[in-house]
Amino acid sequence: MEARLKPAVARILDELRSRPKGIKKMSARRLLRAFGYERRSQENVREIRAELARARIEVNLAVDDPKTLDELVTLRKRKATRALPVDASDAPPAGGKTVGDRPLSPLPTPAQIAQGRHRDITDVIAAVKQCTVQIFTEIGEGSGVIVDPNGLILTNRHVVDTEEGLSERYVHVHFADGTEDDATVVRSHRPLDYALLVVPRQGLCAVPLGDPLKLKDAQTLYAIGNPGGLAFSVTRGIVSAARRVCTTNVEYIQTDAAINAGSSGGPVVTEQGDLVGISAWAYRGDGRLQAQGINFAIPVDYMREEIRALRAIGFQEACRRYYCRHCGWLEESEGRYCSNCGAARTEGSER
Ligand SMILES: [Zn+2]
Repeated sequence: MEARLKPAVARILDELRSRPKGIKKMSARRLLRAFGYERRSQENVREIRAELARARIEVNLAVDDPKTLDELVTLRKRKATRALPVDASDAPPAGGKTVGDRPLSPLPTPAQIAQGRHRDITDVIAAVKQCTVQIFTEIGEGSGVIVDPNGLILTNRHVVDTEEGLSERYVHVHFADGTEDDATVVRSHRPLDYALLVVPRQGLCAVPLGDPLKLKDAQTLYAIGNPGGLAFSVTRGIVSAARRVCTTNVEYIQTDAAINAGSSGGPVVTEQGDLVGISAWAYRGDGRLQAQGINFAIPVDYMREEIRALRAIGFQEACRRYYCRHCGWLEESEGRYCSNCGAARTEGSER
């Protein structure tokens, strides 16, 4: 599993394992350099923290603190934790729900999916479909997946982009039960192509986050999305390469489960119903090669820490904070410029 970690992370992990207490101290400068950065920016620190978090390494390098490169930071191997912050009380009651006047068969709750107490794959996918949404913006549409019962939705940054390449602050969401709502974009990341949105709802059905680092080649995956407006289409495939580094220097899950325009941002799940990625893009080939079945999903471990941070802030509070439509940064402080990317604050970014 560690073979798929970034070399810098693998080295740190090795060092921590060789130490009796599993702790290591180093300067912020050395840590940043290990990841190829000379400068300490909030975005750099975020990425390093996300990469370390995937290997369950804690680091006290603060994102918001404008401390110097000489600051001494502590790295610590975290004990294995429960990856699934979902319990039965979060889930809506199974069964008894209706869409229009057609009754739905009783569905497993996310907690039951997480514990493998579902009946078969059709039940798993039916449950994941309940957690999949359609997202509509001024210029297009895409898919998304509910990752927290209190209204947090994960999708791609490119789904919420405007024609000018800025992020929308507000989009419209259609749920699987036929209802709809406005959503507020509270965080996005252009290089990792994810965005997190908040809808003013509670008790939603949410998909538990899985562990993409445990994926194996040839393992079965399912993708759900809205290709070309065909709402909640399910496709199946396998893991073609569990960690594929493309030109963007992001590690993707390569799969032959079909991903088409409009599926972007939709969930990619295992047979157990664990969310391992969100559909991002498909390789269509170049002049010589007409490619088929080369699709890429962004692993959810890139967003795990961000989701945790938003839970800590509170989703409604996140909607009130300033959101930078350039870099997708969320911050509390006031000012005329984004403290992360330096862009002038734009109209419509704040409530
Ligand atoms: Zn910014």
